[in-house]
Amino acid sequence: MTSFETVVGLEIHAELATRTKIFCSCTTAFGGDPNTHCCPVCTGMPGVLPVLNQRVVEYAVRAGSAMNCEIAHFSKLDRKNYFYPDLPKAYQISQYDLPLCKGGWVEISSGKRIGITRIHIEEDAGKLIHDNVARRTYVDLNRCGVPLIEIVSEPDMRSADEVHEFIEKVRTILLYAGVSDCRMEEGSIRADVNVSVRPFGQSAFGTRTEMKNINSMRAIFRAVEGEAKRQSELISAGGRVTQQTRRWDDNRGASKAMRGKEEANDYRYFPEPDIVPIRLDDARIDEIRAQLPELPDARKIRYAQLGIAPADAQIITASRTLADYFEEAARLSGNAKEAAKWIVGEMMRQLKERSLEPEAIPFPASYLAQVITLCETGRVTTANAKNLFSLLFESGEEPAALVEKHGLAALDDDDALDAAVEEAVSRNPKSVEDFLAGKEKSFGFLMGQCMRSLKGKADPAVLREKLTQRLEALK
Ligand SMILES: [Zn+2]
Repeated sequence: MTSFETVVGLEIHAELATRTKIFCSCTTAFGGDPNTHCCPVCTGMPGVLPVLNQRVVEYAVRAGSAMNCEIAHFSKLDRKNYFYPDLPKAYQISQYDLPLCKGGWVEISSGKRIGITRIHIEEDAGKLIHDNVARRTYVDLNRCGVPLIEIVSEPDMRSADEVHEFIEKVRTILLYAGVSDCRMEEGSIRADVNVSVRPFGQSAFGTRTEMKNINSMRAIFRAVEGEAKRQSELISAGGRVTQQTRRWDDNRGASKAMRGKEEANDYRYFPEPDIVPIRLDDARIDEIRAQLPELPDARKIRYAQLGIAPADAQIITASRTLADYFEEAARLSGNAKEAAKWIVGEMMRQLKERSLEPEAIPFPASYLAQVITLCETGRVTTANAKNLFSLLFESGEEPAALVEKHGLAALDDDDALDAAVEEAVSRNPKSVEDFLAGKEKSFGFLMGQCMRSLKGKADPAVLREKLTQRLEALK
């Protein structure tokens, strides 16, 4: 049987996080009672005049710059004509032949660059709500006119894993650039997935199918795998793939044909006559570019120079909040490696346990820096520092105050340590005997006994030293 290579290109729609809509001053806030976030402009009443929100242009240019695109000095808006009940104007204002951004790329972890064909701006449509019991359909136009960018990739991805990684990377970049909140569950990022297959070694692309509007990472992953499998089996059985739009049904784990694929000329694009073209000179483009923060890839390179392992840098930079938090803790403690260790270890564990996003870390980076310093100076043992970390999540109080309140300070009392060693030795003659007979394991047991009677408050290095000396004396 021939084995096939999967070829995937994506169109990612991301809602821009502007306060108001793209052509009117209605709010873009998620939710609200149906049809309360709209006006004559976004509901497409005849005779109204749309006015382009400059912030939309700014955000799209930021996104394009972050994805290495060329920014157009001259760009325009076009009408894309189609009828759908949630699109009252019967056309969508989008961009056709002169998009705002072109020819960029995004690098994934293998070092491979996924090409970005274009990024353009457009308006979102409303939402249909089907009531299957009453057999009615309602329309909510709150999302009508919410600004979107459509990011069109080249057909450069070759597996569901690459698709997954590319979307995650685009999401991270948009979050860093501060242009979209990228909440998949609120539909603020979703993708049209184009899939084709071809025998390995063949350079021409196979016929592709498109699955529209998939809005979870899991569903996108499954859709790519499912559709590639369907096409491969079809061709192997002597059939031919037809170019069409299919609907991915994630519950059934299969796609179903919806309609023949539209060509661009089916939409009868023509220039939007009510909006003047967008002109940007180099000075303005540079000004917008300057608003971009340092992006994850650049940070990873810098973190490597601080001695942070690539896998750890990957975890930290996956969220701008976490990366900023790390940098502040590293700066305040003067110990980047320890800051990274705490964030990748305890911090991630606590966040996961409590189902929290990094944005919800309940204490400032200066507290993490204090924990690091408390450990370094031996004021708190590593074991107790972990307890301290849980307490920080629960109370949000200052580390020093928590150490005091919960008696977490390391014992620097020699007498108490000596007494604990003495007690462990006298109460466990068998273990002592075993150790003296060469059983190294018994040492660990005796250490544990000492630590337990000291309630974990001893500096392990000091305790180890004392126990070793005591046992040596018995030899
Ligand atoms: Zn409006």
